[in-house]
Amino acid sequence: MTTKIAVVTGANKGIGFQIVRDLCKQFEGDVLLTSRDNSRGQTAVQALEKEGLHPKYQQLDINDHSSIVRLRDFLQSTYGGLDVLVNNAGILYETELFSKICLGKAKEDIPFCEIAKNTCQVNFFANLDVCEVLFPILHPHSRVCNISSGAGKKALNETSQTWKERLLSPDIDMEELKNIMETFVKSAQENSHLEKGFSGFAYGMSKLAMNVMTAIQQREVDKKGGEDILINACSPGFVATDMTCHKGNLTLEEGSETPVYVALLPPNISEPRGKFIRNKEVSKE
Ligand code: NDP
Repeated sequence: MTTKIAVVTGANKGIGFQIVRDLCKQFEGDVLLTSRDNSRGQTAVQALEKEGLHPKYQQLDINDHSSIVRLRDFLQSTYGGLDVLVNNAGILYETELFSKICLGKAKEDIPFCEIAKNTCQVNFFANLDVCEVLFPILHPHSRVCNISSGAGKKALNETSQTWKERLLSPDIDMEELKNIMETFVKSAQENSHLEKGFSGFAYGMSKLAMNVMTAIQQREVDKKGGEDILINACSPGFVATDMTCHKGNLTLEEGSETPVYVALLPPNISEPRGKFIRNKEVSKE
């Protein structure tokens, strides 16, 4: 029987690193730590090896399509596919963290058009690219965990009724979602995003898109016959990492609990599927 494989993106530090640590202990198979920077990734692997854990390593910059394709080819040739995918890699500009979560004052003032473009690129378009390249090699019973955030719900509440209806519609498809996010990024370049009914919180918009992406992906997989593949988004909670300037109230161990729960959902269950999970439960908001 071939060895199973779990992949975690953006895992050289923070929540992704902790997810790799937990999966090394709980997942029955190999765990692949990936990072955009080779040396930061190798250092992370060495740290886990000192704890007696044995993650594998591959370089992956989710913004670099060729590195995603290289990863797919490696997984296909070494493991015949993929069993668990944790889409953890993400960015948040400090200025948005400080203005939206009111922790104090940001160090830098970057124009919103740049924040919107780069944040949506990494947190939505690049994560979607990873999924589009890797989903064709998902094995039956695979689990996909898209690490999102409560910020997505916040952005949804700040979005006009018209966008809300489309984003939450059961018939929205990936093309429409991509168009909406391109419209948001374009309108941010023209500073007309608020007028057009979008939220002024780029990180929230990117995570909202990730939640909608998750629901669409589950519907698409189910239409093709499913094979017990479950795709869910989740919030890790507010975790003390570099991203939150270590202001989060949760430890890494606490923050990885829900993502690991989503990544290790047992076989042949009907729910949760295509949902947003908080504290190991489908979010009711
Ligand atoms: P960190 O900033 O500590 O870690 C982010 C990780 O993503 C780093 O490893 C970073 O790599 C990586 N990354 C960024 N861009 C890319 C890229 N293009 N390709 C590959 N890897 C990339 O953040 P957290 O651990 O806090 O966050 C992890 C996830 O959890 C994110 O998606 C975040 O949005 C989400 N989240 C976090 C919350 C929190 O309270 N911390 C709350 C809600 C959601 P590098 O070191 O090279 O920069």
